[in-house]
Amino acid sequence: MRYLEHQYDFVVAGGGISGVAAAVTAARLGLKTALVQDRPVLGGVGSKEIQVPMVGAHSIDGNYAYGRETGLMEELLLENLYRNPTRTPEYWDLTLTDLVKKEPDLDVYLNTSIVEVQMNAEGTRIESVKGYTIGAETWHTFHAPLFSDCTGDATVGCLAGAPFRTGAESRAEFGESLAPEEAVATGMGSSMQFRAKDAGVAVPFVKPQWVSFTFNEEDFGPYRPIQSFRRDHGGYWWIEWGALYDPVHDTNRIKDELLQVVYAMWDYLKNRSSMKDYLSTFVLDWVGTVPGKRESRRLIGEHLLTQVDLDSGIVFPDAVAYGGWGYDDHPSTGIFGEKPTTYHVFHDAPYNVPLRCLYSVKVENLFFAGRNISASHVALSTTRVMLTCGQLGEAVGAAAAMCSRDGCLPKQLLPAGKLAGLQQQLLERDHYIAGVPYAAAANVAGQAQVTASSELVLGEWMDSAGVKRLDNDLLQMFPVVTERLETLTLLLDASEATELAYEVYGRAKGDGNVPAEDSLLTSGRLALDAGERLLAEIPVAAAAGQAGWHFLVLKRNPAVCAHYAGSAPVGVKDMYGLPPHEIHANRNWMFNRSLGSPYQTLCFAVSPAQPAYEAANAVGGWDRPVGLPCLWSSQPTDFAVPEWLELAWEQARPVQEVQLLFDSSLDINLNPIAYAGTAQESDPRHTIPALVRHYRLLGRASADEPWRVLAEERNNYRRNRLHRLEDGPAAIGQLRLEVLGTHGLNRAQVYSVRVR
Ligand SMILES: Cc1cc2nc3c(=O)[nH]c(=O)nc-3n(C[C@H](O)[C@H](O)[C@H](O)COP(=O)(O)OP(=O)(O)OC[C@H]3O[C@@H](n4cnc5c(N)ncnc54)[C@H](O)[C@@H]3O)c2cc1C
Repeated sequence: MRYLEHQYDFVVAGGGISGVAAAVTAARLGLKTALVQDRPVLGGVGSKEIQVPMVGAHSIDGNYAYGRETGLMEELLLENLYRNPTRTPEYWDLTLTDLVKKEPDLDVYLNTSIVEVQMNAEGTRIESVKGYTIGAETWHTFHAPLFSDCTGDATVGCLAGAPFRTGAESRAEFGESLAPEEAVATGMGSSMQFRAKDAGVAVPFVKPQWVSFTFNEEDFGPYRPIQSFRRDHGGYWWIEWGALYDPVHDTNRIKDELLQVVYAMWDYLKNRSSMKDYLSTFVLDWVGTVPGKRESRRLIGEHLLTQVDLDSGIVFPDAVAYGGWGYDDHPSTGIFGEKPTTYHVFHDAPYNVPLRCLYSVKVENLFFAGRNISASHVALSTTRVMLTCGQLGEAVGAAAAMCSRDGCLPKQLLPAGKLAGLQQQLLERDHYIAGVPYAAAANVAGQAQVTASSELVLGEWMDSAGVKRLDNDLLQMFPVVTERLETLTLLLDASEATELAYEVYGRAKGDGNVPAEDSLLTSGRLALDAGERLLAEIPVAAAAGQAGWHFLVLKRNPAVCAHYAGSAPVGVKDMYGLPPHEIHANRNWMFNRSLGSPYQTLCFAVSPAQPAYEAANAVGGWDRPVGLPCLWSSQPTDFAVPEWLELAWEQARPVQEVQLLFDSSLDINLNPIAYAGTAQESDPRHTIPALVRHYRLLGRASADEPWRVLAEERNNYRRNRLHRLEDGPAAIGQLRLEVLGTHGLNRAQVYSVRVR
């Protein structure tokens, strides 16, 4: 046996996405960091061992379109898309591994399980944690002033005597309408994934003798859609079981029974189901060996996040991250239950998570991130998705770095001055906190006069690229910045004379992207003759609701087809109405979030024209659409002549760095692992078409001097670019960003230029 002692600034236990994010962020901010992971790979439930795709605030068709997590999560997903357009688990693993390996201040200990905690004499702080490396006969003791428990099971907190909760609270305890009437001891279960492939020859499947279950058609009922099996499918997420056992100590039993479920299901599919002929040549290609856990312990912080918090739209003073995936609770009876496999209730807008939910109320130097944060069962059902967990990890990493710099404990970050510093540091890393703009004092971009080669104005929008029949209600979102809204004009085909009902709304619900019911500006019916390419004018003639999203609703009419355009600007988006759904109760609209056709929208014109894409937006402090597009967009161009954005100050000033935040289409879904590989293989794009590909940064002290090239990038595929100007001019009075090309879009689109 070998015994090693290590001293670090920060030790992170658990290498799921929350632990990876906490460790990488802290290391980048200068902390000597250890990431200790008990598996041979990183990524936790999203790893190649378990293969669940990461989702987040925007990922399900819902009420919030531009919600993709930026910051470290965006860096990771864009990198993965670039290297791994077919989103195969092996390449995703490489992307994750590269992320940690390139950090000089980060040491990763794989196959190492934290099993002991040494507390100080008072029992208030962790002094060290001890882990054993399987296969290396080695014990490690990690000493540090700060720790983070990202184990999912809250193992470190539990060993340290930190209080935690399990199961579901009663409705009365926190006034949560989605909680069960009575508290229950069980939560959500675990799952095992599988993939199958076509071997090209008939292959039998003999159910192993030790598999005690036998499934038949009646066992699945309406809520477990076995027909959703597809070639290369990543398995059925609803193969869920184990919630009735102890999710920590019964892990092996849960694994054993889940494996039996998988093989019994495959036996049914291959040997008795209606798909048996189709599947006769299919073999199991991969079966998970580690159960993915949804829920076990939740550590208690200084605040416990509840449904009431999340529904209130509160911007906590200590908000450090956000979420937006709906409440997604699963019954503990899992695959053997008769209830739906999930109840999904959607948010109208993103919510915030406060720092106080990310450190222990009792163990003073213990942070936590991931699914074991301080939340009720109902709140966990939305915060638990991986991109939200990753963001929580990023917030913890930055908070740990601030504690280390200031020699303080997590709770000592709460005074307003420190908190604002932490929030701005996170925003500087392109992290997003709902309701908090970037306003760092060091950024002088806001003091500049901003001009551009051209600015997009939303007026005529009639470049038809095809038609959609109005088989469902259709919602068209668009930005309005003028005081009045006079008309909207559509390009329609009608197969017979008909009337088309419409409504126009002047405001969104919260910070979301669906209309507030009480903001109706007008409604009516358009009389249409039979014909093609009819210009149909909707009279609004009203004071606009307020500067922000407005909405046109076209009611279902299968006699009408609406023309659509192929190059919609940010914030111009159409969504289909959805019929009432038993499980997705309050999901009314579905928007396109596929990389395959990202910029389709209705052909329409708005009068008066809307100057919503001005150059000044690039220094406004918002880096995604918040109520308005919030970005500079040029007019359409072929980039034969570069588009440019220029910042000019009255006096030249020393500039150390310039940060650029490009549009990367935050409404597109970028799961790093595809559930259905085939869908992605048919569109192996590896960048976002809107992203600026080729750009130059130019600077000079005054207009009398020639421009100097400060930086040039010819193959950019990232949203967040930081250019340090060590060799640049001592003083800059004028700064120009030249855009020479994108990855496909015919406009230059930039959220922010930050100058420090
Ligand atoms: C089957 C399933 C389907 C899901 N579907 C989705 C989905 O589609 N999209 C989505 O985004 N989310 C989904 N979720 C939720 C999401 O995967 C989890 O909530 C999320 O992974 C939690 O992240 P985490 O970092 O806290 O924990 P984990 O991903 O569980 O990572 C924790 C890591 O810590 C390690 N660890 C544990 N104990 C120790 C120890 N003592 N020492 C060292 N290391 C330790 C574990 O091995 C693990 O690798 C799903 C979850 C499950 C189980």
